[in-house]
Amino acid sequence: MKTPYYVIHEDMLEDNIRTFQKALETHWGDNSLIGYSVKTNSLPWILKFMLDHGCYGEIVSSDEYDLAEKIGFGAGNIIYNGPIKTKESFFKGLKNKNYVNLDSERELTWLEEYEGTEEIKIGLRVNFDLEKACPGDTVSGEEGGRFGYNYENGCLREAVRRVKALKYVKLAGLHMHNSTYTRTLKVYRTIAEMACRIGKEMDLDLEYVDMGGGFYGGLPEKPGYDDYMGAIAEVLKKAYDPKKTKLIVEPGASVICGPIDLVTAVLDVKDTNCSRFVVTDGSRIYIDPHMKMHSYYYDLALREEGRKVYPGRQIICGMTCVESDRLIYLEHERELCPGDLVIYHKAGSYTMCYSPVFIQYHPAVYVEKQGNYCCVREKWTAEEYVQNSRW
Ligand SMILES: *Cc1c(COP(=O)(O)O)cnc(C)c1O
Repeated sequence: MKTPYYVIHEDMLEDNIRTFQKALETHWGDNSLIGYSVKTNSLPWILKFMLDHGCYGEIVSSDEYDLAEKIGFGAGNIIYNGPIKTKESFFKGLKNKNYVNLDSERELTWLEEYEGTEEIKIGLRVNFDLEKACPGDTVSGEEGGRFGYNYENGCLREAVRRVKALKYVKLAGLHMHNSTYTRTLKVYRTIAEMACRIGKEMDLDLEYVDMGGGFYGGLPEKPGYDDYMGAIAEVLKKAYDPKKTKLIVEPGASVICGPIDLVTAVLDVKDTNCSRFVVTDGSRIYIDPHMKMHSYYYDLALREEGRKVYPGRQIICGMTCVESDRLIYLEHERELCPGDLVIYHKAGSYTMCYSPVFIQYHPAVYVEKQGNYCCVREKWTAEEYVQNSRW
């Protein structure tokens, strides 16, 4: 197998999904479902895996809608979110009885224009001041989030009023997804409390509460799936009956980050008057497209044992011609040589389907199961790069 390449460890992925499902069922029962966040890693093999394991597809664009349908997600098992839906795909989502959560003004207008005879169901994305309740936890900070209808300024109430005025529409759900850095249990308790408060204040008879994604998991010292589901269920049960109201969660990173590695190889070692640079065929763009992370989980696999320790610092660099493409600073580590491998772990979320097509095209992806490897995406070449281009 030629480096660089990603490896999906199938048994680990399977374990993540089963453990998440079990946590959800333990705390809320079987009136619950997982919508896998397609944007987090939309590799076709992964989407099919999620479909086969009973997950719904959680999508946020009409392109993702087409992709989900291509893989086999169909009527009824898609959750359609986000502010950039097209009008056509919005109506398709409703007609096919998928979960459609409205986000903005134009979608309310479309709903009012909808010409159908059968009753349709929709959900509303809730925007509220989470930062105020959990200072320092949210990604948007004091500027506030930009998705959904705001609770504090009355926009949500107005959206509820407009939906309730439509005879053919049932307001069936609330969508509560928020982006946070810390992913503490408090964040989820606060969001669940808000879902309770809105249901009561606005007199909603809800068929579902969708808590969104953003969970962690997989680190012993951090909350795990069971902690999250327990905290959410405990609060939601104050206002909602698990027999009547479905609990939906939309994990992405928490299930797909851990089971994927990126395997890279040392190409060359270069000394300057300042430093020793170890050039590899990997890159920060493959595991950290924003090039913002300060450290990575990794292992070194040297070609032979007994290599002597290099007394200075070795700087492991990526393949791009970007100076800042430096991944690891090794101090007092064995001396790296061409052909040695650097294997990055936890490389599955917002990586292989997010990274730019820059200098060296998308790496191959393999699935590993009990030591056997199967290629599920060939390396991209200039052929894939030029598709649909003219010159
Ligand atoms: C991105 C997103 C998710 C998944 O988020 P993760 O951090 O990958 O778990 C879930 N729901 C919605 C609406 C999203 O936009």
